[in-house]
Amino acid sequence: MAAAAPATSPAHDYDAIVIGAGLSGMYQLYRLRELGMRVRVLEAGTNVGGTWYWNRYPGARFDSESYSYGYSFSRELLQEWEWSEHFAGQPETLRYCNYVADKFDLRRDIQFRSRVTAAIYEEPSRSWRITLEDGSHFRSRFLITAIGPLSTPTLPRIEGRDSFEGKSFHTARWPHEPVSFAGKRVAVIGTGATGVQTIQEVAKTVGHLTVFQRTPNWCAPLHNGKIDEETQRRIKAGYPEMFARCRETFACFLHTPDPRATSEVTEEEREAVFEKLYNNRGFGMWQGNFRDILVDRTANALVSDFVARKIRQRVKDQAVAEKLIPRNHGFGTRRVPLETKYYEVYNQPNVKLVDINATPIERITPKGLKTSDAEYEFDIIIYATGFDAITGAFDRIDFRGADGLKLKDKWKGGPQTYLGMLVEGFPNMMMQMGPHTALGNIPRSIEYSVEWVTDLLRHALEHNITLIEATAEGVASWTDHVKALGVGLLSNEIDSWMTGINRNIEGKQTRIIARYSGSAPAFRTRCDQVAADSYRELRLA
Ligand SMILES: Cc1cc2nc3c(=O)[nH]c(=O)nc-3n(C[C@H](O)[C@H](O)[C@H](O)COP(=O)(O)OP(=O)(O)OC[C@H]3O[C@@H](n4cnc5c(N)ncnc54)[C@H](O)[C@@H]3O)c2cc1C
Repeated sequence: MAAAAPATSPAHDYDAIVIGAGLSGMYQLYRLRELGMRVRVLEAGTNVGGTWYWNRYPGARFDSESYSYGYSFSRELLQEWEWSEHFAGQPETLRYCNYVADKFDLRRDIQFRSRVTAAIYEEPSRSWRITLEDGSHFRSRFLITAIGPLSTPTLPRIEGRDSFEGKSFHTARWPHEPVSFAGKRVAVIGTGATGVQTIQEVAKTVGHLTVFQRTPNWCAPLHNGKIDEETQRRIKAGYPEMFARCRETFACFLHTPDPRATSEVTEEEREAVFEKLYNNRGFGMWQGNFRDILVDRTANALVSDFVARKIRQRVKDQAVAEKLIPRNHGFGTRRVPLETKYYEVYNQPNVKLVDINATPIERITPKGLKTSDAEYEFDIIIYATGFDAITGAFDRIDFRGADGLKLKDKWKGGPQTYLGMLVEGFPNMMMQMGPHTALGNIPRSIEYSVEWVTDLLRHALEHNITLIEATAEGVASWTDHVKALGVGLLSNEIDSWMTGINRNIEGKQTRIIARYSGSAPAFRTRCDQVAADSYRELRLA
């Protein structure tokens, strides 16, 4: 391996450094150890789990079925671990992450409280020099980012935020101690997937809750439930078949689109399918619906109309129901929040919904918040304002490639990647769950992607390769492919984090194609071909 530069001690010299100890980083560490590499994981938090370490807000839980989300790589782990609910809550998932870390003794190679601020490629040694917030340095031949697609929280750009004298929290930076809402006046700002989960939980105990909504989202019922003993037994016996199914479905979920178009069935049949999906667990309404609802406006209008009728039935005050029905996008064209009695929250006398398009928030005040038509007083303000998605965690690290080029500049007009895993000009850097990669039911994609990168590094070790880089042609072709896949999708005509828009961040007002929207099986087939062809599409030296 490369000789250590003067500023890094030999103890800080690694074969591979992984940034992030969420599900991606933990599994990458496990696999790289098998190659006999000296590996270090650098993690900003104080423990493992990533998403499940940070998002401790009330009501945080899976939208993926728990058993379809866990790691599949260890049969022993699958048999030992028991999920208690079909959609486990955050505390259980965090316990799971810790269980995995203990079982595979991962922590000895993870350094916590270590936020990476810079990563600079040095040509002569073909290695990366990595700097932490505290100024310490590391050197590594290979650098693997596992920094999360939804790991960089964003706060709204509202004046006076720091002046608030009560307590305020971003959902993804929730305190480790419990927060009581009993008798409290609470505000929730934001009604995305996180806001919906938070609101329905806080409403159970709150004194008074005011929800500030800019964009209502189309939600579908989660239908969570405890897993009884018999079901537990069936789940454990059926893991191989279940994971095989996840490998075949479009987005690695247990649900996959109905092969029919809405126009191929009668109105009665269509309504019956919608009704069944609405009453089924999980993402079925979104991922298991007719094949044309996400690409055809007429089909999309039909499903949107169905869900709108459900909202009107569930919310007593029809003026409130109308506010909760999205007008600027159709069902499924943004991330669909899954809910449990969310709409019924607005039937509670102690809950108020404020449409901030009609009456915008003007400022946060010491006592609460002022909109264009009223002043509110609160004890607690909860910011459920989401993330600087997909590229956010990249933007916060000063990555510089071979010519000193900044990644942020290279990606100014949108990310450019090879298979979502490599970037031309940034040799020996691989990305887990970065832009342009298959996401879906994410751990399924993590396992594939980690194994692909591990195989690539194994190939490098076996062939004395010390430089791995995507080519300009490879990047152009993959980036064009990813863009082409987005054509015709209704979701690509909508502002959302999936199209790179975040109104709270300067420079994120133009739509980009940040995610791969093709099928996961097609993604894997393409990546498998590259491996089978001995990575000839890459520059290896
Ligand atoms: C509330 C919530 C619910 C979700 N539910 C689901 C679900 O049901 N199904 C699903 O498939 N997906 C879900 N997701 C997506 C989820 O992010 C992924 O499932 C998965 O956890 C991603 O794992 P990861 O390791 O790639 O990233 P993360 O879990 O985000 O981990 C990234 C880690 O990198 C660290 N990091 C980032 N930058 C730095 C830096 N500069 N220096 C050091 N460390 C750094 C972070 O601290 C973090 O620990 C959910 C996300 C959220 C926010």
